[in-house]
Parts: sequence; structure tokens; C-alpha cells
Amino acid sequence: MLLATLLLATVPSLPVIRYRVTCDPSSSADPKWRVEISVTGLDPKRRDVRFQLPGWGEWYDLDDYYVRELAGTPPVRHRLDFLERFDVELPADWDGTLKVSYAIPIVELGSRANSNHGLLPWRTAGYVHAFSSNTLMRVAAGEALVEAERTLELVPLPGGSSLTGWSGLAAGPQTVKLAPQADNTVLVLGVPSASQRSDDAGGLLEAVQFSGLPDCTKLAHDFARRLRVAYAATTGAPAGSAERLVLTAPGLGGTHVEGAITLGRPEIVTDVRGRPGFETGTAHFVAHELFHAWLPGVLKMGEPGLEWIHEGFTEYLSLWQLVALGDVAPDEFARRMHWYDELARKSAAFGKVAFASPDVNWREPENETIAYKGGCLLAFHLDALLRDAGEPGLPQLFRDFMREEGGAVRRAAFAKWLAAQGLDEAWANCCQAPFAPDPRADLLRAGFRPVEKPDPNDRHHVATALGGTTEPFFKFGK
Ligand SMILES: [Zn+2]
Repeated sequence: MLLATLLLATVPSLPVIRYRVTCDPSSSADPKWRVEISVTGLDPKRRDVRFQLPGWGEWYDLDDYYVRELAGTPPVRHRLDFLERFDVELPADWDGTLKVSYAIPIVELGSRANSNHGLLPWRTAGYVHAFSSNTLMRVAAGEALVEAERTLELVPLPGGSSLTGWSGLAAGPQTVKLAPQADNTVLVLGVPSASQRSDDAGGLLEAVQFSGLPDCTKLAHDFARRLRVAYAATTGAPAGSAERLVLTAPGLGGTHVEGAITLGRPEIVTDVRGRPGFETGTAHFVAHELFHAWLPGVLKMGEPGLEWIHEGFTEYLSLWQLVALGDVAPDEFARRMHWYDELARKSAAFGKVAFASPDVNWREPENETIAYKGGCLLAFHLDALLRDAGEPGLPQLFRDFMREEGGAVRRAAFAKWLAAQGLDEAWANCCQAPFAPDPRADLLRAGFRPVEKPDPNDRHHVATALGGTTEPFFKFGK
């Protein structure tokens, strides 16, 4: 008891940051997102404390039109020479507390401002949509963000609901305690048209639709749940985090943020099984984003420069899982591998960068194509070689690395793992040297066989594609 008391007395308590967010009714002539922040418990001796609004979504293109009605105690001033910064004029006898309030315009969905800056807050009939990163200021001291206990209170208009990717949907207002590493998620205030929720073998999963179109939440929820249950079985690890699908106005693209994928309500088509489903591109986008809960959510990137694993292997394993589940036809898998090969070969970086090199900036657009598409083809190549050699296949990486490598991938460990499966040449040829994919050889290795397809445009011509049944390749484990 005495020890506990002593320990408590020596642990310094963190500063506390409280955010309160409301919005003007959409009937207002110039609706705004209204943010109030109160900070207590900062070190009064520090003189370099300021607010900071990260530039995600390029809000600073709008100069000081974006953050309006700025008022603070002590006074806060927007630095026009460094637009992400908001300096605080600290008095000599400052007590370590700050208060600031400001408003951010909410532009109409489909307006020019919205088309040019789609990640900034927007509204449409019934709801407002924003991201936390470019609406909630952070508190910084010197060059670092202040570690603090942060809470967010979201207050919708009467009768409305509130949603965050960190906490999900609530009828009415909600207060969320932010995790220490919480950085960016979606915030929605308004009236959802439908929602679905489950918490089982697929982990906590929610689908919420805000557009007034026919309800798509059951289809989206069941699709995501089926995938998450399958990912857990394939990798041997349960979902480490909750996921929310936020379905907004149709025609909008998708963005994955912490705990949520926000995307335009997808079109419903007849899928490969003859049932209502999503077009392959949409299904693969959602499957890819959901798989990030395992890569790098479960299996972490142990060093920088592994985007080709993080993105390329995610692109591959999510598509593989879709075929395994019967949501995408094997023929479509073969077609996409050829298409990725075409895209990789069109990149100026093709044949110039090697995956194992620690010096590649994979976020440069030409290199990024190699990381995503080339990395996907590499994953397919390795999976095909592994299974050809009688090994379980690429998903085994998860089980082995969770058991032996502390759940993190590094180049040396990956090379060692490939060598242990008899693929040391693959490391030298495909990772240390630039990779030249041969999807046709890999498709044959995976059990695809040439199928003759009459060309409907030319009755004399018969195209040959790889297709047919490849069931063993799309199975893993028992
Ligand atoms: Zn990704």
C-alpha cells in the first residue's frame, strides 16, 4: 500500500487536452465546424508552447481563410509565414493552461472547393464529414507534440448522431478518450440512413451509411465481416483493431484512416456467384484496406523502406483471399496479374529499383507503382514458388514471424525465412536485383491452364488466356 502510494506520487500526471466540436446547422448561410480546445497541466516554465494544425489535405493552400474566428486565452496568433503554426503569446506569469476556439468552413459536396480539396470538411443534406487531422489542433512544445490525455466531445445538432473512426456511431453526442498515438480519423455529424454492427470472430465491425440511397450497409458489413473472419483464419491472428465502413455520397473515392474506411456508397452489381455484390475494383479496394489491420496491424514493419511488403503483399493477399472466398473469379485474378505486370513495366522505375535496397523512396510516384504492383507480383511469385516446393504458402509468413521474429518483418529476417523454405535464389534474383515479373509462368505454377476463348469481335480468332480451376492454390492450411 505504501509502495503504491509512493509510486503514484512519483508518476507525473500528463497535461489534459479537451476538444469540443459542434457545427452550424446546414441551413446557415455559411456553415462552420466550431472547435473549442482547453489545455491544462502544461509546464509553465516552457516558453515554446504553440498550437499546430497538420497540413494534411493541403488546407494551407487557403491561407488564413481556413481557420477563422480564432480567439485564445492567452492570445493565439496564426503564423502567416508558417501556416501550420499558431503561436501563443504567453504572459510572464503563465499558469500552464491554454484555451482556443476557432471555426472551419464546411464547403458543399461537389463544389469547386470540395473537388480541389476533398479531404477538407464538406457537407451534404443531412450530414457533415471531416477528418480530425486537419480540424483538431495539436499542442506542441519545441519541435515535438505534447504527450497528453486527450478527450474529444462531438456534439451533433438535436436529433443527430455522431461518429468517429476511433469510437464508432453514437445516437446523439459522445465523448471519446483518444489513444496516445491517435492521429487521424473520420468525424461525421448528422443523421445516418442505416447501420449494421457485429463483434465476433471478425472483431468489432460497423457499417454506417449516410447517403439516402437504398441501404447498402448489410451488404458492405457482411462482405467485410466474411473477409475479416477469413483473414484471421489465414494469418492465425485475430483482428487487432475495430473497423468502421462509413458509406457516404456515391461517386466518392475511399480513404482509410484510423479505425475506418470512408468511401462513397458503392454501386451494387451482380457478383461472380450471381448475387448482389461489389464490382471487383471496389471489392479489392475494401479488401486491401481491411487487410492493413493485419499488415502492418498484426505483422509490423520492423524497419523503414518495406512499402513493397506493406502495400504489395497487402494488395496480393487481399486479392488471393477474395478468390479463396469466391468473391472474385480465378480468371479475374489471372487478368489482374497481367494488368499489374503491364503497369509495373510502364513505370520509369521498372528494372531500376530492387526491393531489398534500403535507399529507395517508395513514395515517389514511379517507385510507388513498383511497390504496389511489382510488390503484388513478387508476393504472387513467392507464393507460387513456395507452394510448388510443397510449402504451405506465403500466408505462413504471419505465423512464423509472430512466433520467431517478434511479429515484425525486417529484410535480413525475410531473406533468412525465404532461405529456410529453399528460396534463397528468389531473394537474390527478385529482391536484391530488380524484379522482372513473369505472371504467365507463375499462373502456370499456380495451376492455371490455357483456356481458349472465342473472340466475340472476330469469329476466326481464338484468344488464349490462363484460367480454369485452381482450387488448391486458393486454399491455405487445413
Ligand atoms: Zn494500402
